[in-house]
Formats: sequence, C-alpha cells, structure tokens
Amino acid sequence: MQAQENRVITKVEELAFFGGGSPAFPDKLHVGRPNNGDKKRFLERAEDILERCWLTNDGPYVNELQQRLLDYTGGKHCVLMSNGTIALEIAARALGLKGEVIVPSFTFVATAHALQWQEITPVFCDVDPLTHNIDPYKVEQLITPKTTGIVGVHVWGRPCNIEALTDIAYRHNLKLMFDAAHALRCSHQGQLIGDFGEASVFSFHATKFMHTFEGGAVVTDDAQLASKMRLMKNFGFGPGYDNVIYSGTNGKMSEICAAMGLTNLESINSFIDINYDNYQHYQRELSNIPGVSLISYNEFEKNNYQYIILEIDPEQAGITRDQLVKILQAENILARRYFFPGCHNMEPYRSYFPNSKLLLPETERLTQKVLSLPTGTAVNNEIIRKICQLIRFIVQKSDEVSKLMHKISSSQM
Ligand SMILES: *Cc1c(COP(=O)(O)O)cnc(C)c1O
Repeated sequence: MQAQENRVITKVEELAFFGGGSPAFPDKLHVGRPNNGDKKRFLERAEDILERCWLTNDGPYVNELQQRLLDYTGGKHCVLMSNGTIALEIAARALGLKGEVIVPSFTFVATAHALQWQEITPVFCDVDPLTHNIDPYKVEQLITPKTTGIVGVHVWGRPCNIEALTDIAYRHNLKLMFDAAHALRCSHQGQLIGDFGEASVFSFHATKFMHTFEGGAVVTDDAQLASKMRLMKNFGFGPGYDNVIYSGTNGKMSEICAAMGLTNLESINSFIDINYDNYQHYQRELSNIPGVSLISYNEFEKNNYQYIILEIDPEQAGITRDQLVKILQAENILARRYFFPGCHNMEPYRSYFPNSKLLLPETERLTQKVLSLPTGTAVNNEIIRKICQLIRFIVQKSDEVSKLMHKISSSQM
C-alpha cells in the first residue's frame, strides 16, 4: 500500500479528524495483520491433507509442527492445541492449579479467563512500570494459604523477572507457569523462553508473530505433564479404541492449521528481519519527540519484535494517549490501546473485586499510556516514516490539537 504522497499536513485543521481532508492512508493499517508465509506451499499442503483424508486427530502435519516448534519455543515436549486459551486451561489443570493463582492484570483477558473458567480465582498483581511485566516483589504480598501458583506473562515477548518468580515459587511451594503467547523464539539469558517454569503456553492466533489461523501449544520439560496434557486435549482417550482413561476436553489442532504453521515457520526468519527493520525505523523516526517513548528490546537476546509499543506521557506530549489514538485512527492508522482497561476493570473481575484498582496503581497508569502501532509484513519504511511524521506533528501542535478537540467535544454535548 502506498502512502498518499501529495498530502503534507502543515496545519492542525488539515488533520482528517478535524474534517481537513481524506485520511493519510487510503486503506486501514491494522495492528496485528497476519504474517503469511508462501501461499503456494500452503496450498500444496492443503492438497496433501485432502488426498490423505486425515484432517485432524494427531495427523502427520501436527506431529511435524510439534517437533519443529521446539527449536523456537525451547522446552523438551511440545503439545499443540486448538488455541492459546485452551492451552492455558489445560496447562493450569494438568498442573493442579486451584484456589487462587497470581497473575498480572496487564495482559490479554484470556490469561485470567483461562483460570476463572475453571473456578480458579485470578488474583491480580501489579506490574513493574519499566518492563510492563508482573512485579515479583508484589507477588509475594499476595500469597495466601489458598494460593497454588503464579502465571507470569512475557508481555510483548520481553521476559518477566524469571529468577525472582522462580525463587518465590520455590520458597512457597507454588507452581510457576508462563503465558508466553507473545514470546515465540524469544530468549532469556541465551535460553529459549520455554525452558523456564513448569510449563509455558504459546499462541498461534492470526494476530500473533507466527500463526496457524488459530492455535496454541504448551511446552514443558516434564514428560509426565506432557502425556497428561495429550490425554486432556483428546477427551482423555488412551491407546486403542473406546478407551477413555482420563478426564478431558477437545483441544486438538487440525491438520490445516498445522499446514499453515509449517508454511509460516519456513518464513519465520524473514518475518523477524521485517519486524526488526520496522522496529529500527520506528526507533529512528520517533527519536526526540517529547513525551513519546518506544519500548525497547534487549538486543543481546532473541526477540521477535512483533510489538511496536509507545508510552505517551501527557504532561510532556501535551496530548493524552486517547486523543492521539483518535487522531491516528482518523488517518486510518488503527493504533490500539493494549491491554486497556486492564483485566481487573473487565467483567466478571470488576464485580468480584471492585477495589482492585487500589492495589494496581502501576497497571492503572500503564493502561492509560500504552499504544500499539502497526508493524509486520503489512507496513514498510515509507509507511512508518509517514506514521511517525504525523505523530511528531501532532505533538508539536499539541496545544492547538487539544483545544480543537475540546471545542468539538463540547459543541457535541
Ligand atoms: C493471544 C493471547 C492469549 C490467547 O491466545 P489465543 O490463541 O487467542 O486463545 C493469551 N494470552 C496472551 C498474553 C495473548 O496475547
């Protein structure tokens, strides 16, 4: 897609939000547009599947993908599932989590729902404002006699404080599992992210770095835990026919999804190159804009660079994150407020714990500041430059922009 060359905005009134003209981009730029591998390879595999007439139930593509993924997840055993949420549910159940489990509120709601769906109470913990990840020192204060585990989330693929969490889990005899939905092919101290904790859960949803349309996996070093999860995701069926030996559900990945995964894995290095190039461009183009900071990745580790995340400081930028999002969206840059408003402000948690805000000051602040911008195969350097020029312009003219926005909203009342 081409940015419209002819439209250089010099006045605030020219922004699309104020009715100043057509949007900067003719087509909508989404966050999390799928990174697709080679279409021909996928269609070849689709044909294989139809010819084999083996559509699901531990087919050859699922098994191949399961093996290949270990190189990108870490861990000794990989159990593929139909999506990341089922994978979280099954992992939690196989680990015997019950009672209360400590999780961050600054995450996708599935982290909390996967527990609550099984009548486990998610106890929300605040985050470290620098890393956006669960704060281990606050975890310790939330442990009660009912606590059975901790779920750390590697938000944006940046590892949470694994050492401190491991230590706390060990001292209090708690299970430690990770939601690594963002962290495929990410490392911590040179080790792949799935090598830590009792189990790590990945998501291959269409919006994630590597997708299988829908999909997920649990990775673990524990062979017994892995076999338990294999039973659970297949109705508890043991070997042979009609042999149910365990409680279970249907969490199987189908062959067509695995075919997409295998195809996308073949392009994974180019996805990383593109994401990294985009990240460096954003870094360069966004430098020295007051109140706008791009979160950074530790380049001594492996990253997938799938998330371009800004923090907007309204004091310095002169404009709030929400105002900026509205203006960008009018230009067809569909920036998103990730994880707004935080799990603790969503149902059913909001009703269960009406006062949880008080315990989550950093989460409350972060959910007002964070903004996600488009990246991946759907954007290029030209598009990024144009997005960043707009952001720079809006911040430079933030006084005028804010005034005009207030005027509009008060005239609409
Ligand atoms: C996407 C995501 C999930 C859920 O995965 P699905 O495959 O969509 O079910 C869970 N946790 C986090 C942090 C996610 O981003």
